[in-house]
Amino acid sequence: TLTAKNIHLSFGSNHVLRGIDLHVEKGTTASVIGPSGSGKSTLLRVMNRLIEPDQGDILLDGRSVLKDNPDELRRRIGMVFQQFNLFPHKTVAENISLALRKLRGMSKEKARDEALAQLDLVGLKHKADARPANLSGGQQQRVAIARALAMKPEVMFFDEATSALDPELVNGVLALMTDLAQGGMTMVVVTHEMGFSRNVSDVVTFMDAGVVVESGPPEQLFTNPQTERLQGFLSDVL
Ligand code: ATP
Ligand code: MG
Repeated sequence: TLTAKNIHLSFGSNHVLRGIDLHVEKGTTASVIGPSGSGKSTLLRVMNRLIEPDQGDILLDGRSVLKDNPDELRRRIGMVFQQFNLFPHKTVAENISLALRKLRGMSKEKARDEALAQLDLVGLKHKADARPANLSGGQQQRVAIARALAMKPEVMFFDEATSALDPELVNGVLALMTDLAQGGMTMVVVTHEMGFSRNVSDVVTFMDAGVVVESGPPEQLFTNPQTERLQGFLSDVL
């Protein structure tokens, strides 16, 4: 269970997060939707402590993590971005095994075995010895997901993981994210994919201008939005 409590953050005079609460039960998927600039990416960054909040608390399994070493939290939370950030000069398998060797202290052989096992799970074992540039964008994103999963995170964050993909490649990545969600992974998914938010996530949170405007089950938010702001957003994106 991951909880963000009353998170505030400013960049200079720009008060970007204005008292955000988010609660993600273990084994569930929370989707976060909202207009550009509403603070979604910043919230994810605060929740895995790439940025320290000005105020508020982050709890994992009921325990505040703000006093811990931030590296420890980042090991417990896997993160997948819009940009896949794969190392171009390494093979696909090396992209995954590198982190296992460095951060988990695995031997070269064991890290490669683990990398191959993760690639198998995302359907890309046959690409183990290819370079990222020789994969499609969708395949590269699945490698990035496999790399995050190889670290055996307790929670996965996705920030617009399909936004940089050609339309025909989006579904393969969404299918993988759906499998993960249905397999019981705890996930926070910032997305413009309203189909995923509506059909896969357990709880939807709509943010605007640094506040949570509405949060609840997808059926409730998508069929019966309570605020003009969410009604307006949905009529723009659906
Ligand atoms: P999008 O849907 O476009 O990705 P978002 O909801 O993820 O938008 P954020 O990237 O979290 O929005 O940005 C929220 C606000 O914080 C914006 O006003 C942005 O300009 C500002 N901001 C984000 N990162 C920084 C930074 N490193 N330094 C200064 N301002 C920032
Ligand atoms: Mg963003």
